[in-house]
Amino acid sequence: MKILHVSSEMLPYAKTGGLGDVVGALPRYLSRRGHDVRAFIPLYDTMDTDAVDLDLVIPELTFPMGHHQIRTRIFRDADNPTAYFVHCPGLYSRGSIYTGHDDEHRRFLALNVAALTACQYLGFAPDVIHCHDWQAAMLPLLLKVRFGWDRLFANTRTLLTIHNLNYQGGFSSAVVPDLHIGGSEHLLHQELLAQGRVNFLLHGILYADGVSTVSPTYAHEIQTPEFGAGMDSFLRQRSSTVVGVLNGVDYEEWTPAADPLIPFRYSADDLSGKERNKEALLNAMGLPYVKGVPLIGVVSRMASQKGFHLVPGVLPGLLARRDVQLVALGSGDPRIEDIFASLQRYFPRQVSYYRGFSNKLAHFIEAGADIFMMPSVYEPCGLNQMYSLRYGTIPVVHRTGGLADTVQLVDPVNGTGTGFLFDHHTEEGLRWGLTTALKAYRTPGLWEKIVANAMAMDYSWEHQTLVYEELYSRLVS
Ligand code: ADP
Repeated sequence: MKILHVSSEMLPYAKTGGLGDVVGALPRYLSRRGHDVRAFIPLYDTMDTDAVDLDLVIPELTFPMGHHQIRTRIFRDADNPTAYFVHCPGLYSRGSIYTGHDDEHRRFLALNVAALTACQYLGFAPDVIHCHDWQAAMLPLLLKVRFGWDRLFANTRTLLTIHNLNYQGGFSSAVVPDLHIGGSEHLLHQELLAQGRVNFLLHGILYADGVSTVSPTYAHEIQTPEFGAGMDSFLRQRSSTVVGVLNGVDYEEWTPAADPLIPFRYSADDLSGKERNKEALLNAMGLPYVKGVPLIGVVSRMASQKGFHLVPGVLPGLLARRDVQLVALGSGDPRIEDIFASLQRYFPRQVSYYRGFSNKLAHFIEAGADIFMMPSVYEPCGLNQMYSLRYGTIPVVHRTGGLADTVQLVDPVNGTGTGFLFDHHTEEGLRWGLTTALKAYRTPGLWEKIVANAMAMDYSWEHQTLVYEELYSRLVS
């Protein structure tokens, strides 16, 4: 198949979260399966262009957008021919991937139009265009209206993947002329338009041939008012086309037996390296190592979605009463950062917090911690709990979205399960999850079984790519 991906993020070039991981992996795995894949992202000024060998593929691509004339050039990574970049410094040289600027809509509309126009230029007729999140959600409508005349796209089907329903691309209706859809404005959602607004994600939900999200449970949740973020009724209308496909894990990057970013490699057969990583991690984070004291790890964006507002009501009591330590990494909302900073102040021998972004430390924490805490309010898929499983670091999670689909509750009697899920997002829930995990840690023979179960789980891209392949085939047929 010929497959086009359109996304605002793609590892290793541009990433703020899970979207970057997915678009960094899926096109690569699809092309290994023999498909002809092109993935388009903006050429941001934040990208390390010294590390990428860029080939100029299209010297000039110009198209109108409202009163503006957008001039772009298209590059390709010489070492990764699936990766295409839309060069337009006026739009993408802003010092960050996302901005709150007035023309944010235009930055990503230009990406969509450039990708489609580049297909025309290259004579690339995609069977499937895989649109990621609101930044590419207007593409199905643009394809019908602005590009419908071109036979090149006569058999093209579109798939919208929602990586996080809470980011929707909502703008004032003043942006409508930039869509350049002439006499087809009646295709926009009229009620919203009458209120002076336009919602990009909504139009993807309405016009893409298929809609997917990143876990089966989240696919179900987003069709309910509680998790639907105002989109649930539209998603319910398209219920038969809404599916959940779990993200895969790039085990080439995340495998403790071959991870160059951790000091001691280990495997399920020989876990001695894990204990040595723990000692080294505590050392590096300025905490004492005492054998037998469990270590809880956190690696996360510090955003309200991640549910850390439960922590001040639970962790101080636990840290005061029990022999337990905590290592946390992440940055974002200063109020959430402060939760971890103050735990570190009150428990300086038990808690260490690194405010920032560090892929190396993320790997080190996965390898060195015993328990991984992820109390997300909602979680479309979540990657860290899957990394944790592979590293034998037992997740304590809220039973929601992808967390519910990837972590199986431990049964201490039979020694089955891979982690601890709490049903209600409350302090009692998180306290139960953590204390139950700590009890299991101290139960002779049980912890080793849970670790073995966790490390045996397989959420590889090899497998998930086949699921996407099947989804594409259904769309095309
Ligand atoms: P989300 O996309 O909501 O942030 P995911 O769990 O799907 O959550 O993906 C998060 C990704 O970002 C993971 O690869 C995780 O390791 C990484 N990450 C998040 N915060 C940090 C950080 N401070 N330092 C390093 N990596 C981080």
